Amino acid sequence: MSNSDSRVAVITGASSGIGAATARALAADGYRVALLARRVDRIKALADELGDGSIAIPADVTDRESMVAAAERVKAELGRVDVLVNNAGVMLLGPFETGQRDDYRAMVEVNLLGSITATEVFLDQLKDGGGDLVNISSVAGRTARAGNAVYAATKWGTNGWSESLRQELLPDVRVTVIEPGVVDTELPQHITHEATREAVQQGYDVATVKPEEVAEIIAFVLARPRHLVINEILLRPATQLG
Ligand code: NDP
Repeated sequence: MSNSDSRVAVITGASSGIGAATARALAADGYRVALLARRVDRIKALADELGDGSIAIPADVTDRESMVAAAERVKAELGRVDVLVNNAGVMLLGPFETGQRDDYRAMVEVNLLGSITATEVFLDQLKDGGGDLVNISSVAGRTARAGNAVYAATKWGTNGWSESLRQELLPDVRVTVIEPGVVDTELPQHITHEATREAVQQGYDVATVKPEEVAEIIAFVLARPRHLVINEILLRPATQLG
């Protein structure tokens, strides 16, 4: 049961997939959760479902003003931040040579700069009393492949940025990078390059892990005693090769 003393988790991209599943898992562990995303109907419905101090905050991680407003709302309505999950992301894959400049920019602005902005605006609250920063990277943050150049760049960037922050913020803030393989979410549906979308979707049809399984891992990481931190977790469907 949540109350005004219970811990608070802020989750970006909480309107679907891994973010929504993480919100449910952390709420089940007694957290009050602040659900950030652009699709307001979805986060409001999820906040209603979770009840007990969970709030929906319309926010775009590419818009610093909306993130500053989100941080102010969390402070005013929930009073503390114990966990920030930088989960919002887009995976607009395609051959680099097709020149999808809007897609490249969106991936950098959401996946990399969006996480940086969210961390920057929530950091004071996160450091106050000891917090956890969870950055959702990807297998693509460890393995670059033809066709995922800019997506991989954002996730490799996430990993490098996270390691630097880990050193800078310890022991006040524990930093964890989660690197999932193929997870059953709507992520590939937004790919604009049609042939790539179909090929990637076929891979998703073969084998995935469930977003709830990633969420369980995040909840496990956060439940470790404060003297211990799990800095990095790489997970895949057991049949996924690369
Ligand atoms: P989803 O598409 O289900 O979720 C993506 C989330 O990001 C949505 O809630 C979306 O909310 C949010 N989002 C996108 N753009 C913005 C923005 N500008 N501002 C705020 N929120 C935004 O996919 P997943 O759950 O799979 O993705 C979550 C994370 O997991 C991503 O970082 C992704 O790269 C990573 N990941 C996913 C894998 C997979 O196979 N599914 C594998 C490895 C990593 P809204 O549109 O409402 O704003």
